[in-house]
Amino acid sequence: MDKKTFHKVSYGLYVVCSKNKEKINGQIANALFQVTSDPPTIAISINKKNLTHEYIDASKVFTISILDKNTPLTLIGMFGFKSGRDIDKFKKVNFKLGVTQSPIILDNTLAYLEAQVINKIDVGTHSIFIGKIIDSAVLSKEKAMTYDYYHEVKGGYSPKTAPTYDGNLDKKIEKKKEEVKMEKYVCTVCGYVYDPVKGDTESGIAAGTAFEDLPDDWVCPICGAGKDAFEKQ
Ligand code: FE
Repeated sequence: MDKKTFHKVSYGLYVVCSKNKEKINGQIANALFQVTSDPPTIAISINKKNLTHEYIDASKVFTISILDKNTPLTLIGMFGFKSGRDIDKFKKVNFKLGVTQSPIILDNTLAYLEAQVINKIDVGTHSIFIGKIIDSAVLSKEKAMTYDYYHEVKGGYSPKTAPTYDGNLDKKIEKKKEEVKMEKYVCTVCGYVYDPVKGDTESGIAAGTAFEDLPDDWVCPICGAGKDAFEKQ
């Protein structure tokens, strides 16, 4: 079996939220699909260890916030690499409570769905929750973030076919390459790769900045770990 085959399946990137009495939580998920259109139902796969799983089990409701392509790594990191058991994930984002009283992210959400759980399938490490849609809305005309886009463009390099590919940037980088060390560093906590060719423009780090030249207080844009959590790739 070639596990790379799985990377050929395309996905979006979503924040799945739920509630448990007055408490709310949410997490990043990519495994979501529409099951039927009449009645409209969707399925999501959630790891049993996650707090959101516990909340969906308790409340039988969940929401899906569909993220757009401009979603910053910090938002994905907050919901994808941290646990609601340790921090309040909603402190720094705009959100509202839907008709299910489950939260809907408003920052970088282009559309959302609210669902009532009608079935649950045990698949070992994960559960698949099947939800009947009880409300939904489109919030913007932005393009949806895809799992692929997140990895190829946001987290690493920009392929020539990517919409954000910048030919001039490449030329500038070619020049810079001769001047600075261009070694990539990987975050040992979340796997984010700091590529000096790309820099970390969301945090104000210009393309062509060597890892060694990052300010001491620079942190991983995804998980928030410090420079000392990085090692050479
Ligand atoms: Fe990290």
